[in-house]
Amino acid sequence: MQKGWLSHAGVYPVDHVPFEDAGPLLPDAYAHPRGIQHTTEGSTVEGALAAYRARRCAPTFTVGYDAKRKVRIIQHVPLGNAARAVENHPGGVETNRVTVAQIELVGISPVGRAWQPDDPVLAPLAAVYWQLWKSCGIPLAHIANPLRSGDVWDAHAGWFGHADVPENAHVDPRDLRYANVFARAHAFSIIPPRPPKVRPNPRPKMLAPGVAVMLLRARKTPAAALCGGARPSLLA
Ligand SMILES: [Zn+2]
Repeated sequence: MQKGWLSHAGVYPVDHVPFEDAGPLLPDAYAHPRGIQHTTEGSTVEGALAAYRARRCAPTFTVGYDAKRKVRIIQHVPLGNAARAVENHPGGVETNRVTVAQIELVGISPVGRAWQPDDPVLAPLAAVYWQLWKSCGIPLAHIANPLRSGDVWDAHAGWFGHADVPENAHVDPRDLRYANVFARAHAFSIIPPRPPKVRPNPRPKMLAPGVAVMLLRARKTPAAALCGGARPSLLA
């Protein structure tokens, strides 16, 4: 499994905005490569970054529109280390630290109907899935786990929604059409994009001036409702 910071996911550049992580992955992450899909339940990248900062609950990647309606892929945690975007309770199963990657998709998941992001976001999201399949072996399959069974969680590789993760109560990303995301990801295999460079460290210019300003503003923005609930993962 590749470790570190991706320069690209398929043809799409990946920006780096590091956040606190949950330490190195445990061995089961390599035995059963898993990903967790979230929705931020907000409308911009900037709002999501403010919430990660306030709650110490950053995912591995954020994908979606920023406040200028530019679609961004941002990596927050190096591959090989664990994100902090789901709850993990004492005892029971491990959650964050056996999950190779967690993606926060910027947007509000609709209630009561199947959905997928619009095409300008679907393509880069699928490229991240494709890249994580090639680089980390996360299979392009959704593991539905509506009862949040620890046994199902422990036995399968593939993509879980936050709603499928044991010890968690959030319901995002609701009825995301995973099959359409996977189909789009498989399409990248027909015309393989160039392989990405993987860096041991975030790129030096990780905080471009615009991002620095954005983070400064983000501190003053109230946290959006997302990720680890009232109790952030791995705290205390
Ligand atoms: Zn979530």
